[in-house]
Amino acid sequence: MASVPFTKPLLATLIAAAAGACAAASAPASPDLARRQAQVDKIVGDISPQRIEAHVRKLVGFKTRHTMSDTVSETVGIGAARRWIKAELERCGAAAGGRLQVSFDSHVAPVSARISRPTEIVNVVATLPGTQAASKDRIYVVSGHYDSRNTDVMDASGDAPGANDDASGTAAVMEMACVMARHQFDATIVFMAVAAEEQGLLGAAHWAEQARLKNLNLQGMFTNDIIGSSRAEDGRVDDRQVRLFAESIPATKENSESNRALLATGGENDSTSRQLARHVKEVGERYVPGFTVNVIQRRDRYLRGGDHMPFLERGYPALRFTEPNEDFAHQHQNVRKEGTMQYGDLPEFNDYNTSRA
Ligand SMILES: [Zn+2]
Repeated sequence: MASVPFTKPLLATLIAAAAGACAAASAPASPDLARRQAQVDKIVGDISPQRIEAHVRKLVGFKTRHTMSDTVSETVGIGAARRWIKAELERCGAAAGGRLQVSFDSHVAPVSARISRPTEIVNVVATLPGTQAASKDRIYVVSGHYDSRNTDVMDASGDAPGANDDASGTAAVMEMACVMARHQFDATIVFMAVAAEEQGLLGAAHWAEQARLKNLNLQGMFTNDIIGSSRAEDGRVDDRQVRLFAESIPATKENSESNRALLATGGENDSTSRQLARHVKEVGERYVPGFTVNVIQRRDRYLRGGDHMPFLERGYPALRFTEPNEDFAHQHQNVRKEGTMQYGDLPEFNDYNTSRA
């Protein structure tokens, strides 16, 4: 139920954005199905829930993907996980015609609040270059984080399956990259599996900072974080919507002329992130009928954060996709049983298929 429909609205939007479609000033009351493009339908239809499930289970199989976990083993730890992600993207990129450029983006993070020794932080980055000379410098980024954690955020060796947080987002991004690599887009799309989200958004911050230093023309960033389950803590199932978090006025440009103008004109809802979110809603709902993109007028959940934030802090429009109702028994929890209650972010608590494709 969850992973696939949650992926599809983003996918449709990404395609429309990369192909150069314009955002409408306001979303129509109901999706304009007449405006669907066959190529987008094809891509959305090619997304495989079976592959997404297999990717999630493979990522869980590394036992822990904690950022400071083993990097030498071929079977356990974050090093093995990132080498597998890279190899998988290279394999499907080659099968799709060889245009997907896959590489590691690495830096060493010094000791900080959640890093106890200097640690190599490695993002896996797959770039699909745009094909139009005039617009290939226009870039869209889509990410999930492949690191995981358990109750103690500094525990680098205990099991941390991270099936939902965030193998679900990582698997979705890998699937998007593999399907979309078979097609051409005007703009450039960067698919990223990032590390160290749980240790302070370090992987995303490194890439975003490099983008700012290079003055990249980054027109939109989407993070997929905790998108794998439709079941709430109280057992309710809602597989007909995804939350999309969109901030208002960028906090870091508090005193800029553009922000003062937004405030002076009552334009708090006119930020680039809000406009991008309206575009996601319009395009996503057009290609996945019966599924709602629920735009939440906040930067993120209350007192929580994600990999879109380093992009927002550098002035880029950036959004976060998350399932409608999180279940905290299966998030940031050691795998354990208390009575009949199973805790832990295990793959059986994700749902992979959809009742209405
Ligand atoms: Zn997460």
